[in-house]
Order: sequence, then C-alpha cells, then structure tokens
Amino acid sequence: MNDLRRLPSVDRLLQTPQARQWIEQYGRPLTLNAVRSVLEQIRQDWKQSPSTLNEERLFGLIEETLASWIQLTLQPVINATGVILHTNLGRAPLSQSALQAIQTCASGYSTLEFDLTSGKRGKREIHAQQLLSRLTGAEDAFVVNNNAAAVLLALSALARRRPVIISRTQLIEIGGGFRVPDVMKQSGAKLIEIGTTNRVHLSDYETALQNHPAALVLHAHHSNFRLIGFASEPDLASVAALAHHYQTMVIDDLGSGALLDTSPFGLAHEPTVQESLEAGSDLICFSGDKLLGGPQAGILVGKAELLARIKKHPLARAVRADKLCLAALSATLLHYLKDEALTEIPVWRMISASQEEIRQRAMKWQVQLGYGEVIPGLSTVGGGSLPEETLPTFLLALAVPRADHFLARLRQGTPAIIARIEDERVVLDPRTVLAHQDEDLMTKLQQLLTEIKDTNTPLRIPNEKSN
Ligand SMILES: *Cc1c(COP(=O)(O)O)cnc(C)c1O
Repeated sequence: MNDLRRLPSVDRLLQTPQARQWIEQYGRPLTLNAVRSVLEQIRQDWKQSPSTLNEERLFGLIEETLASWIQLTLQPVINATGVILHTNLGRAPLSQSALQAIQTCASGYSTLEFDLTSGKRGKREIHAQQLLSRLTGAEDAFVVNNNAAAVLLALSALARRRPVIISRTQLIEIGGGFRVPDVMKQSGAKLIEIGTTNRVHLSDYETALQNHPAALVLHAHHSNFRLIGFASEPDLASVAALAHHYQTMVIDDLGSGALLDTSPFGLAHEPTVQESLEAGSDLICFSGDKLLGGPQAGILVGKAELLARIKKHPLARAVRADKLCLAALSATLLHYLKDEALTEIPVWRMISASQEEIRQRAMKWQVQLGYGEVIPGLSTVGGGSLPEETLPTFLLALAVPRADHFLARLRQGTPAIIARIEDERVVLDPRTVLAHQDEDLMTKLQQLLTEIKDTNTPLRIPNEKSN
C-alpha cells in the first residue's frame, strides 16, 4: 500500500473479519468512527510525508484508536507506597460489607426515602443517624457529601453574618483548595482572628468573647501540619468551657474524625469524635473516608437543635449524601458497633498490621520474585491526619537500572502499580497492598525484571502518557 488510492474504503474495511470483531466488542457507531478517523489521519499524514502502510499497520491503528476511546480515566491501582490514606489514590478502600451494601442498594430499589411502616415518604437523614448517635453519644447526626461541605454548611446555617472566633494557629489550608479562612468567608461568617501564628491563649478567646457577644467559636484540627517549637494552644475543653460561660457555641472541624484511638499502634494520639464531644463541642464535622475508613462523606454530629437548623438550610439539599454513600457508611459504622473495625475495615487493618506480618509478606514477595532485599522502612497514615507520624514497616527493595523508568512502567500496567524510590531503589510497602492484589503485583514485577535481565539494559518507557 504505497499509494493513497489503494487505501481501502470505509465500506470495504467494515466487511473484514476484524471489523466484525470490533463491532461485536465496541459497537457499530464507535467502530465506524474509528475507521473513519484513522483513514482521515492517514490521508492527512500522507500529505505531510508519503510513507508505506500495510494492512496490518492499518488494522493496528484502528484497534489502538478503539482501545484508547474506551479507556477509562478512573482506574483501580495497587498502592504500594505505604501511605494508607492516600488522597490522590482515593483515600480509604472499603470493607467487604460496605461493598456488599453498595451492591445491594445500587442494584435495586431501597428505602432511601420511604417508611415501610406507614407506606409513606420517609427521610433520607435517618440512615446513618442512629448508628452515629449510638457510637459517639451525640444527640443527632447528619451526613453530607464531604467534610468541606459539612464545614461550609454548618457555618452557613449557624454563623451567617455572625462573628466567628478562630485562632490564627488554626487558619489552615488542607490542600485541594480548602482553606479554613476562605470557607468561613464563603459561608458569610465574619472572621475574628485571635492569637498569633504560633501561640494563642485562653485570654485571647476571652477578650474576643467579651467583644463579640453574638459570636461562635470555630476550632479546626491542624490536619496536615504540626505546630512545634515555641507554640501553644489551650485545650478544646478549656475553650469550650469558656465559650459556654459566654453562651457561645463551639464547632469543631475535626478533619479525620477517628472513632478509635490510634496510640496503641505506635502512632500519636489523634483526637477522636467521642473526645471532642466530651470536651464540650456543640457540633463536630469530620470526613467519612479518612480514619473512619468509609466512603467519601462529611459527617456532622452534635446538639439536636443545631442539626435541626442545619438540615433545614437550602445548602443541605445541595450537598446531600447519595444512597451508595449512606449504604457504605452505615455498613462501615456497623463494624465499630460490633467491635470488629480492626479486622474488617481495611485502613484499620493496615494501621494495626504487625511488623512481623508485614515482614513475612515482603519475604514472600522476595522468594516469589527470586530477587530484591527486605529492608526496614516507614509507612505513613496520610489523609490530613497524624502529620510526621510514621509506622515502622518492611519494604521490598529492588535494585534496578533507572528506577524512575521502572516506576513509570509499573504505572502503565493494568492495574497500575504505584511505588516509590528510596536510595535509588524501587521500594514496595506491603502494608497498603490489599491481599487479593498480590498476584497482579507479582506478575507485573516478574515481567519487568525478566525484561531487564533479557535485554541487559534499563527499561524503556513506550508512549508515556503526557499528563
Ligand atoms: C480533610 C479535612 C477537611 C476536608 O475534608 P474532605 O472530606 O476532604 O472534604 C476539612 N477540614 C480538615 C481539618 C481536614 O483535615
């Protein structure tokens, strides 16, 4: 085929056995589009520089085009980074029961807003509410799309046009465009900053409370940064007691929102929802997919009177949780109620995994590959909780030429594998690799290692995606 006139027509191409296969696999309209688009491209390219083209190459191009068109951008990956709540990799993987709950609710109809006793319209708000109240001791609870929405909704409903007192030590940005001062302004609240960047005293709160009688106090978890050195903040209980003395309510943006204590696992203590309530918070906002280990959600718990106002606010409808979220969240909360969170919720299984268990797994990988070295390393929790805190772990370290190329090739597989480089070696942390992913991981690593051995050169990166 070294002449454009010998290029087959669209009709002729569609008659070929290959085209019949594509139609079967991709549908007729998409196949037709791909054939047209490839033929057009060839004609264009031909004008620039005539070149020879055989049938095989032509079919290959059409096949590639079709495959790229159906390629989804949201794909599962294997997280071998050791960062448990990796925000870029979708934070918390769900438990088996949570997945089951999604499957059951999504594949049919449900009681989302239907009361089986009366046969009349029911309320979406009730679904995770009882579980949350039972677990935390809060009077009432409400679930929205994410914690950023929870904070915005709470402030919009309770603090619009009112002064909100917040310490300068807590005017944080958590990433992804969420800045506490901006969210406060967006809600219509009037920001009253107190203290300094590194220190705030109870007396700063008292002065502000005296000067702004209609105010409320916002307390925000530092999330992904840590205040160290010459720094101090009064504890939440003292702030709440003082605020209540001035008939002022306290909203705590707890961020991660742990229900269990992290300290038995060699981590610093992350304040729990229960502790925040005990300290006197009137309302607490936290995420569903951080240390809770559930689906993306923003959870508000606290005084019934405040939640009633929040649920009635027009924004509540705009940021409401969907049925899949409520199903998965309820199933996740049940694990806590049944005292099985450490074994059933993936992020807690990862946090509580023993070093010996992880070492065994890394050794198993090493034996299977017949390559690499098991070395001590550090995993992190991530997700805006426990900054700087690490968990001792064991890594499988692979010395390969051009470790960066090796990482790139790991990312190109299906499923993609995300690892990291330490001291010029590719390292893989078993802590965040789910048990059922071992086989895919081993197959890919084996394949790349063989390729290096066979060619005796670093891995090449074919058509690296440009993004
Ligand atoms: C993570 C976090 C948020 C935002 O939560 P999303 O669920 O990601 O919307 C808000 N505040 C704090 C303190 C956080 O740590």
